[in-house]
Amino acid sequence: MSISEAKKITDRLEGIDRCASCDAEIIWAKSVTGKSMPVDPEPIEGGNIVLVRNDSDEPPTARYEGPARQAYLKKLAERRRDVSKLFVSHFTSCPDAEKWRKG
Ligand SMILES: [Zn+2]
Repeated sequence: MSISEAKKITDRLEGIDRCASCDAEIIWAKSVTGKSMPVDPEPIEGGNIVLVRNDSDEPPTARYEGPARQAYLKKLAERRRDVSKLFVSHFTSCPDAEKWRKG
């Protein structure tokens, strides 16, 4: 087994995968309607998704938050001197997103 293969398996275990299009690291989550969706693994300023961990080995649930809730979570995080755990869908951040939409 090559090093890169070993790394791949470690990444898998942590729930990290790579975008087939731009090779960026992504986490697979499930939308509230149960569809698989790629999410960027790092929370960012201006994110609009909260990842809700599930008990089992199921991927986390990605829940979209409206502007009011985003602001609330940001304030909460600031109070804890933390960054708000708001993520963004890789469909939004992928440089090849156009290709995704075309299918
Ligand atoms: Zn991508």
